[in-house]
Amino acid sequence: MRILITGVCGFLGSHLCDYLLKKGHQVIGMDNLITGKMDNIAHLLGRDDFEFIKQDVTGYIYVKDELDYILHFASPASPVDYLQFPIQTLKVGSLGTHKALGLAKEKRAKFLLASTSEVYGDPKVNPQREDYWGNVNSVGPRGVYDEAKRFAESLVMAYHRNHKIDTKIARIFNTYGPRMRGDDGRVVPNFITQALKGDDLTVYGDGSQTRSFCYVSDLVEGIYKLMFSDINEPVNLGNPDEISIFNFAKKILSLTSSKSKIVFMPLPRNDPKVRCPDISKAKRLLGWQPKVSLDEGLRQTIQWFKGQT
Ligand code: UDP
Repeated sequence: MRILITGVCGFLGSHLCDYLLKKGHQVIGMDNLITGKMDNIAHLLGRDDFEFIKQDVTGYIYVKDELDYILHFASPASPVDYLQFPIQTLKVGSLGTHKALGLAKEKRAKFLLASTSEVYGDPKVNPQREDYWGNVNSVGPRGVYDEAKRFAESLVMAYHRNHKIDTKIARIFNTYGPRMRGDDGRVVPNFITQALKGDDLTVYGDGSQTRSFCYVSDLVEGIYKLMFSDINEPVNLGNPDEISIFNFAKKILSLTSSKSKIVFMPLPRNDPKVRCPDISKAKRLLGWQPKVSLDEGLRQTIQWFKGQT
C-alpha cells in the first residue's frame, strides 16, 4: 500500500513508519517539525520506498498519485509541548484533521486518527472504556489538546457517516520508548534523564496520580491491527498495568541504579488523577494486547537514553 503518515518525525509517527516499511509498504511522511525531529527519520532518507515532505498539514495538502491509507499522527502530544504551542495544537486537531480527511476523500483512501486518552479528561471512572464520555475542562490548559482531539474524532465520524470513508480512531494511552525527546516534559523521559544525570526526580503533586504505560512496539502493532480491522468506532490502545507516579519514580531509580532523590513539585492544573485503559474491546475485536512488561520496556528505553548522552 501507499501510505501517508502526518507527523512522521514524531515519536510515534517515526516508529510506525519503520514498521510499515518493514511490512513492505511505501510511505510518504509529512511533518512541519515544530515538535518532531528529523533525527527520527534520518535513517530512512534516500530509500526508494520513503519520501519526506516538510509541510504544515493545517493548510491545503497536496500529494501526487494514489494513496491507500492516511495515518493522521500530526500534533504536539506532551503537556509541555501543547502548552507551548496551544494554537498550533488546536489547529492541527481541527483544520489539520479536516485537510487530511479531505485528502482521504479525494484519494478514496482509508483513514486512521491518532486520538488520545485525553478525550476522557480527568476521568471519573477507572479504567476507561470507549463508551465513557469523559470529564474535560474546555477552558483549562489541557483543553487545547483534549478539545482538538474530541473535535477531530467528531469530524472523522462525520466523514465516515456522510462521505462513507473507511475511518478508524485509535485512543492512544501513555506510550513510551526510544526516540522520546529528553526535553518533551513527559514523565518517562523526564525521570530517566534526571536519574541518569543524578538530578532530583521531580514528582508533581504527592505522586498518587496514576498512569499506565505502553511500550511503543506494542502500540505500533495495535495500530497496524486496527488499520486492517473493520471497526469504525474508537478503540483504546494502551497497557492496562496501572502505577502511581511515586512508585514509577522509585522504579526508575531502581532500574537505573541512580542515587538521585525524589522531590515533590506542584501538580499542574487539571492533571488527571487516574488513567488506565480498559482494552477488552481491542482484545476481543483485534486479538491485541501488550506483550512487553513495564520493566522490560523501561530497560530498553533507559539503554537508548544512555546512548544519547
Ligand atoms: N509528572 C511528574 N513529574 C514530571 C513529569 C510528569 O510527576 O517530571 C507527572 C504528571 O503530573 C502526570 C504524570 O506524571 O501526573 C504523567 O505526565 P506526562 O506529562 O507524562 O503525561 P500525561 O499523562 O499527564 O499526559
